[in-house]
Amino acid sequence: MTSPAPRRSTLDPRVADTSNAHVADTSIRGDSTSVEDAGALPELERKGKVEQVALFGFIIIPFLAILAAIPMAWGWGLGWHDVVIATVMYAVAGHGITVGFHRYFTHGSFKARRPLKIALAIAGSLAIEGPVIRWVADHRRHHAFSDREGDPHSPWRYGETVPALIKGLWWAHSGWLFDVELTPQAKYAPDLLADKDLRRVDAAFPALVAVSVLAPAVVGGVWSMSWQGAATAFFWATLVRIGLLHHVTWSINSICHAVGERPFTTRDKSANVWWLAILSMGESWHNLHHADPTCARHGVDRGQLDSSARTIWALEKLGWAYDVRWPRRERLDVRRIR
Ligand SMILES: [Zn+2]
Ligand SMILES: [Zn+2]
Repeated sequence: MTSPAPRRSTLDPRVADTSNAHVADTSIRGDSTSVEDAGALPELERKGKVEQVALFGFIIIPFLAILAAIPMAWGWGLGWHDVVIATVMYAVAGHGITVGFHRYFTHGSFKARRPLKIALAIAGSLAIEGPVIRWVADHRRHHAFSDREGDPHSPWRYGETVPALIKGLWWAHSGWLFDVELTPQAKYAPDLLADKDLRRVDAAFPALVAVSVLAPAVVGGVWSMSWQGAATAFFWATLVRIGLLHHVTWSINSICHAVGERPFTTRDKSANVWWLAILSMGESWHNLHHADPTCARHGVDRGQLDSSARTIWALEKLGWAYDVRWPRRERLDVRRIR
């Protein structure tokens, strides 16, 4: 692999858009090989296998550990109250991110009436992934530069060797959140900054964090009329729920830009990862998303679960969402690799 690694951006983001053209043709695909690379194919295959094993090690094992903790805790520290509260909080905050922050605020894949707009901004804030305007600005920058210099969270940032990818996966998964380089909101989210409602929800982020952290304990305590109920609800519906949703969201940035299927043409390494579809509420059909970013449904093919698209469908039926950009066969056919 000789393609240049997307490194830490030194570009001024204000001029970066226009510099896209010269980096676009250096766009890298892990499966591409030039003529002089042809002899290195077995080496690449071996590397691919090592990458898969590394991924499983770093991401699947901690996740399995969380799952294993559930039956172990059942009966003394986990009850069905906790499961209900945690599931509801996960679904509300999670769809706040996928339907609200992502498909609506970032990509405008539908229009929303004002109360729905405000509700989505609040629901997404409960995920504690940062205030809405910052989230949107970062994500729009990700699409502008996906897997190239300027992308805030590409796993290919340090190169394509196995150690570089492991380091890059960590970066894409969480490391980038500690980056001091902030995405300029006036450049990437002027529409949100101009909206008084959204500026208010954005400013209320610390209060919404407090609600997200404390509400499960209050509900759990009142529901069971015990301090024990408050404590277990806090553990499962606050700590575990927030941790799991964070890792699932970040897995879209890391795993879905490293491994998976690529049935659609994109200029980046985005991929569809089926086993994340339910937990990610349809966001792991990420190859389609990069091929057609404004599409309201990401799981466009038969059997591809996408609860976010289902939610948008219900909101449309209620009349709260309208002008939804549903997938169109002609658009998909043009983008599909034959
Ligand atoms: Zn992406
Ligand atoms: Zn997106």
